[in-house]
Amino acid sequence: MSELSSIPLMDLAAQHEPLRDSIRAAVDRVLDTQQFIMGPEVEQLETELAAYLEVEHVIGVSSGTDALLVALMALQLEPGDEVITSPFTFFATAGSIHRAGATAVFVDIRPDTFNIDIEQVEAAITPRTRAIMPVHIFGQCADMRGLEKIAKKHELRVIEDAAQAIGARHHGVRAGRLGDLGCFSFHPTKNLGAGGDAGLVTSQDGALAERVRLLRKHGAEQKYHHQLVGGNFRLDAIQAAILRAKLPALDGWNAARRQHAARYDELLAGWPIVTPRIREDNESVFQQYTVRIDGDDGGPQRRDALRAKLADLGVGSNIYYPTPLHLQPCFAHLGNVAGSLPEAERAAHSVLSLPVHPALGIEGVDEVVRRLRIALDSVD
Ligand SMILES: *Cc1c(COP(=O)(O)O)cnc(C)c1O
Repeated sequence: MSELSSIPLMDLAAQHEPLRDSIRAAVDRVLDTQQFIMGPEVEQLETELAAYLEVEHVIGVSSGTDALLVALMALQLEPGDEVITSPFTFFATAGSIHRAGATAVFVDIRPDTFNIDIEQVEAAITPRTRAIMPVHIFGQCADMRGLEKIAKKHELRVIEDAAQAIGARHHGVRAGRLGDLGCFSFHPTKNLGAGGDAGLVTSQDGALAERVRLLRKHGAEQKYHHQLVGGNFRLDAIQAAILRAKLPALDGWNAARRQHAARYDELLAGWPIVTPRIREDNESVFQQYTVRIDGDDGGPQRRDALRAKLADLGVGSNIYYPTPLHLQPCFAHLGNVAGSLPEAERAAHSVLSLPVHPALGIEGVDEVVRRLRIALDSVD
């Protein structure tokens, strides 16, 4: 198989190449001024991202994880308060609920979109429920219209974990303005990646945005006078400058991801694997192109065998996520048991994310599919 070129799950170097000069210039600009903490680069990035996301308030922060944490801190939760969320997500979603002093209440996902099943949300609401934190998994928004109705009825806040969904739309509205607060990650592997850790909080609510802004710098409007106990959640000026250099490329990258996804959909139709379902009211940005490889026994063996075979054939893939959060050892005290959230558990056993990155090209998709055919034939 040594003649087969490798097709990695992502190729950040290829995406960097055409932007190399503008990114270097951006970093030099910061180095020349020596203004590393906040300042004009951060402010200008915030202005540009507010325009891009079509949202009123944006607050640059230190990571996607910190975006979630500081957004939850802004809700001033108390011990025993509950936040409803999805178990099928990156750890930070529920980790930040715990760190904000509240309790994560997991609601199962829909098997077709992998997003939280809003039909099951109301049954999880108790007198202690304060907020719902949906995750726009793999770049497709959760059913925010439905969640908004539930939140209004029960007077709950909604925080979007939009870490994977920058640029996505739901009923034409951008992720990040679909709830009370929106949280984004600029981790280098996300659709818009910084040169390290960075994140963003968005809001249409001026009072909430103001609280996030305060919490970002230790709760002090005026230095050394602290109204709230916040943290150091500031965005680095170097990261802001790099993000400003990359932002103009984002729509093109997202469009390329969508084209790649459409090509997969076309080529994989009728195959014994399930392709992603994007709802009519959603425009996904395909942070991942995630297929489902169900095994006869409900276990992960068939999927894992296919993944190993793909690796032999030079195709990178990954499992997002192998263990749902309700079954993580650190949340054992919440009392969730195996079998309690069957769709999240089934997804963990069957999902496989294939290369969909912007530098892949249609030829790249065709080549992945050719090798996927060989891999499937060898495992079935
Ligand atoms: C990446 C990610 C985060 C965390 O973002 P970081 O910038 O890595 O801290 C949170 N939630 C989801 C769904 C993510 O994919």
